[in-house]
Amino acid sequence: MFPHLFTPLDLGFTTLPNRALMGSMHTGLEEKKDDLRALAAYFAARARGGAGLMVTGGIAPNRQGWLAPFGAKMTSGGEVRKHRNVTQAVHDEGGKICMQILHAGRYGMHPFLVAPSAIKAPISPFKPWKMSGRLIRATIHDFADAAARAREAGYDGVEIMGSEGYLINQFIAPRTNHRTDEWGGSFENRIRFPQEIMQKVREKAGKDFIVIFRVSMLDLVEEGSTWEEVEALALAIEAAGATMINTGIGWHEARVPTIATLVPRGAYAWVTKRLMGKLRIPLIATNRINTPEKAEELLREGFADMISMARPFLADPDFMVKAKTQRADEINTCIACNQACLDHIFRGKTASCLVNPRACREWELPSILSTRDHLQPSTVNRPPSTVKKVAVVGAGPAGLSASTELAALGHEVHLFEASVEIGGQFNLAKRIPGKEEFYETLRYFRKMLDKNGVNVHLNTRVTAEMLQAQGFEKVVLATGIRPRTPHIEGIEHPKVLSYLEVLQGQKQVGAQVAIIGAGGIGFDVAAYLTHEHGEQPSVAHYQQEWGIDPTYSQRGGVARPAAETPKRQIWLLQRSKGKVGEKLGKTTGWAHRLGLKARNVQMWNEVEYRRIDDEGLHIAIQGQEQCLQVDHVIVCAGQEPLRELQAPLEAMGIPVQLIGGAKEAGELDAKRAIAEGWEVAKG
Ligand code: FAD
Ligand code: NAP
Ligand code: SF4
Repeated sequence: MFPHLFTPLDLGFTTLPNRALMGSMHTGLEEKKDDLRALAAYFAARARGGAGLMVTGGIAPNRQGWLAPFGAKMTSGGEVRKHRNVTQAVHDEGGKICMQILHAGRYGMHPFLVAPSAIKAPISPFKPWKMSGRLIRATIHDFADAAARAREAGYDGVEIMGSEGYLINQFIAPRTNHRTDEWGGSFENRIRFPQEIMQKVREKAGKDFIVIFRVSMLDLVEEGSTWEEVEALALAIEAAGATMINTGIGWHEARVPTIATLVPRGAYAWVTKRLMGKLRIPLIATNRINTPEKAEELLREGFADMISMARPFLADPDFMVKAKTQRADEINTCIACNQACLDHIFRGKTASCLVNPRACREWELPSILSTRDHLQPSTVNRPPSTVKKVAVVGAGPAGLSASTELAALGHEVHLFEASVEIGGQFNLAKRIPGKEEFYETLRYFRKMLDKNGVNVHLNTRVTAEMLQAQGFEKVVLATGIRPRTPHIEGIEHPKVLSYLEVLQGQKQVGAQVAIIGAGGIGFDVAAYLTHEHGEQPSVAHYQQEWGIDPTYSQRGGVARPAAETPKRQIWLLQRSKGKVGEKLGKTTGWAHRLGLKARNVQMWNEVEYRRIDDEGLHIAIQGQEQCLQVDHVIVCAGQEPLRELQAPLEAMGIPVQLIGGAKEAGELDAKRAIAEGWEVAKG
C-alpha cells in the first residue's frame, strides 16, 4: 500500500529498510540513573515496530552544552558503556540508531551557558557568556569526540543538531551572531562553525558512519537566514561529509506554532522540497507528518527522500509494522496535542503520550518484553487467571481505554454508552478548529473495540438494576462529567447557554458573546465561535494567519500575520488573577492565547459576576461595575463528576471502579482519562 515509504534507502555503506526516520525527541529517560535500561526498552520497542532509523534525544557534547543542569552528555567512557545498553537492544531487534549531538548554546537553562554573542534568549532566564575563539575550537573538538564516542557505544551514526535556534544555529544567523572575528560578520564566517564541526565529526567518526546534519531551513524569526543562505549552507555541509540532511523548522523562540494540532499535516514539506534536486545526498522532511498515507504522498510527490516522525512513534511504536501489514487503520495516531510529551519535558517530567500511556514505561510492561536476559523488566503484569464479566459504563476516552485493555486481557467486556456514538467529550473536541485530529483517536478505538471483541451497546443509558440483572461481576464507571452551573443571579435567563448546547449546534449564537470561564473549554469555545466552520484548515490559510512567507522574501521566512476578522465580538472571562489561560498546555497555551488575540477576543481576569438580565452580563473588575451588552452568555465554568450509579451498585454488592471524569472532574483531561482506563486493566 505504501510503496515509496517501504523503498529501502541505500546510503552507500549501509541500507535503511524504509523511508521512516524516528526523529529526535527528548523523553527524560536519557537522564535516568538506570544504566539507560528504560531508554533501551523504549527504543527496542520502536526498532521492533519497524522504524527505518531512529535518533535519540539531544545529548550534549560538553557541560556548557547542557539543556539543563545534569542533562545527558557524551564525554566519558562511563557514558559510552551505558549507551551500549541502548544500541545493543536496538540492534537485537534489527534496528538502527543515531545519537543526536545537541549543544543548547543560549537556550541552556543553567548559568554556564555560552553563545557566539552575549545576547539573552527570550526563553532562558540566563544571559550567555560570549565564546572565546579558543572555546569555539574546543567545542568543535567536543562535537567530534562525542561522535567518536557514539560510535564506540555502538551507534550507527549521529545527528548534528544545527537547527531550532540551538548553538550551531546561533552562529549561522545574524540575529544571534554579532561577532566581528573569523566566526562572525560575513555568511562565510558565520557558517565556519557548522562546517568545521561537520568536517571534524567525519574525520573522527570514520567514513562508514551515518552523519545526519539538521539544517534550519526556515528560522521563523527576524534576522534568521535567507533562503540563499540555507541552500549555500546545505551545499557546504554536504561537501563537508554529511550522509543526509534533515529539516529544521522554526526556532524555539519563534511565535509561530510549528507542530501543534492546529498546524495542518505536512505544512512544512514545501520547505524541504525547495532543496530537492540541489544536493546529491538524501533530504528528510519533518513536522506534522503523522500517518503513513501522508508520508507516502510526500515521498511520491518528490517532497523529500525520507520522512521524519517523532511523536507518531511515541503514540504507536508499531506504526511501520502496521503500515506494512495492511493494518494502517490500527495505528494509534499522534494527535499533536503535546500534552504528555513536550509539556512533560518542559516541566521536567518524563515524557509519555496522551493516546498511549505505555510510552516511556516499556521497561515495566509486558507487551514490550525484550528478548535479552539482562534487559528483562523486573515486574511483569500477567493476564488474568480467571475471566470476568465486566461492564464499562460510558464510552468516552476513559471507558474506551478501559474496555479495550480489559478485553485484550481476555475478559468478557460490555461497553454501554448513552449516546448514539462512542467518544464522549472527544466528539466535541474534534469540532474545534485545529483539533480535527482528535477524530483519529476515535477511529483507533473503534477499531480496537472491534478487534478485541468488546460488546458495544450504543444508545443505552444503563441503570444499576440493568447491570445487576445481567450478572456483571465488576462495573467500571466511566460516565464522565456534567457541566458546572455557577451560582450567578439570572443564570436561568434565556441568554445563557451551556458549552454543550453551543458545540452540539443546538442553539444559534449571537454576534456579541461573553464566555464565563477561561479554561481549556472556554478557549476552545472562543476558537469555535471566531472561525468559519466546515472549512478544512489549509496550509495557505495557516501560513497567512501565523505570518509564514512561502516566497521567503525576508530573512527567516517571516511575514506579518493576518488573521481573519471574526464575525463576533467575544469576551473571555475568569475570576482569578493572573494571565488568562495560564493553566493551558505549557507548549501550546501561548499559541491559543495569541490566536484568539489576533481575532480580537478580549481576555479579562479578576472578573466578579453580578447578574445576567435582558441588558447583558453585569460584572465588576476591581470594584468598577459595568455591563457587557451581549446576546449570549456561554458557561464554561468547569465540571462536576457524574457518578449517580455508584451508590446503588455498591448497595447491591457489585464492585465498582471509578475512572476519568466520574472519578474526579477537577484537572481532568483526556491524558488522565485514558491512563486511568489503562490502569484498570493492570489490576
Ligand atoms: P466523557 O468523555 O465525558 O465520557 C463519558 C461518557 O459516558 C459519555 O459519552 C456519556 O454519554 C456516557 N454516559 C454517562 N452516563 C451514562 C450512563 N448511565 N449509561 C451509559 N453511558 C453514560 N482533553 C484533553 O486532554 N485535551 C484537549 O485538547 C481537550 N479538548 C477538549 C475540548 C472540548 C470542547 C471538550 C468538551 C473537552 C476537551 N477535553 C480535552 C476534555 C476531554 O475530552 C475529557 O477530559 C475526557 O473526554 C474525559 O473522558 P471521560 O471518559 O472521563 O468522560
Ligand atoms: P477548567 O480548565 O477547570 O476551567 C474552568 C474555568 O471556569 C476556569 O477558568 C475557572 O476560572 C472558571 N470557574 C470555575 N468555577 C467557576 C464558578 N463557580 N463560576 C464561574 N467560573 C468558574 O475546566 P474546563 O475548561 O471545563 O475544561 C475541562 C477539562 O478539559 C480541563 O481540565 C482541561 O484540562 C481539559 N481541556 C483541555 C484542553 C487543552 O487544550 N489541553 C482543552 C479543553 C479542555 P476562575 O475560577 O478563575 O473563574
Ligand atoms: Fe502525540 Fe499528544 Fe502523544 Fe505527544 S502526547 S505523542 S502530541 S498524541
